[in-house]
Amino acid sequence: MSYNNIFDSHAHYDDVAFADDLDEVIKKIQESGVTNVINIGCSIQTSKNSIELANKYPFFYCSVGIHPGDCENLPDNYIDILRDLAKNEKVVAIGEIGLDYHYTDGASPAQQQKVFEEQLILAKELDLPVIIHSREATQDTMELLKKYKPKGVVHCFSGSAETAKEIVKLGMYLGFTGVLTFNNAKKAKEAVLEIPVDRLLLETDCPYMAPTPFRGKRCDSSLIEYTATAMALLKGVSTQEMIDIANKNTCDLFNIK
Ligand SMILES: [Zn+2]
Ligand SMILES: [Zn+2]
Repeated sequence: MSYNNIFDSHAHYDDVAFADDLDEVIKKIQESGVTNVINIGCSIQTSKNSIELANKYPFFYCSVGIHPGDCENLPDNYIDILRDLAKNEKVVAIGEIGLDYHYTDGASPAQQQKVFEEQLILAKELDLPVIIHSREATQDTMELLKKYKPKGVVHCFSGSAETAKEIVKLGMYLGFTGVLTFNNAKKAKEAVLEIPVDRLLLETDCPYMAPTPFRGKRCDSSLIEYTATAMALLKGVSTQEMIDIANKNTCDLFNIK
């Protein structure tokens, strides 16, 4: 079965995993029906890389932001740098930003929260949506989302159906990766069942999070159809319908015409 109109709302094609064959991969995903990609910044450098990719490939968009795992040793003027980068017309969001308490050797929760908040304020100022990364930090993430009420998406959602409903109540979207295809993805599946279909985004987070049956391998946007099929089954629509709905949701959120 082949699909079209696929929008991968979250990818990292500047990752070293694509260093040797990026042009081939880009050709392959276009032949697989992928019509749009948002390449995500995680640091000042990868934000610049994302802009470069979006300028090189017409069907790419990008975001700029500091990931919680990259928020140590930032220059004092990092917000000014991001504000400047966000002027590029291919930039559609501030992200990925958020909190990640999984790794204990990274920045402290207090430092992560400071950088997260400063970027939420920047997104408000620029009237841009945010792309949220939250791992083992649900309570603190939700507190800040309730405080700032940004437009945006909580990406690679893995929380409870309860949390998913709270996010929808805030007017935000939820993005799902290949994790949705895993046999043990009970929570993600329960969340999808609870969320209105107009709040769902499809993403790969490639090169990570390859869906079953490619789990553990390098992921790319052509594999998103497996995630779309898993989501479509839960929502009672066809895979192509799910792809079309998620495409429209992504365009609505990121103001893409
Ligand atoms: Zn992430
Ligand atoms: Zn990511």
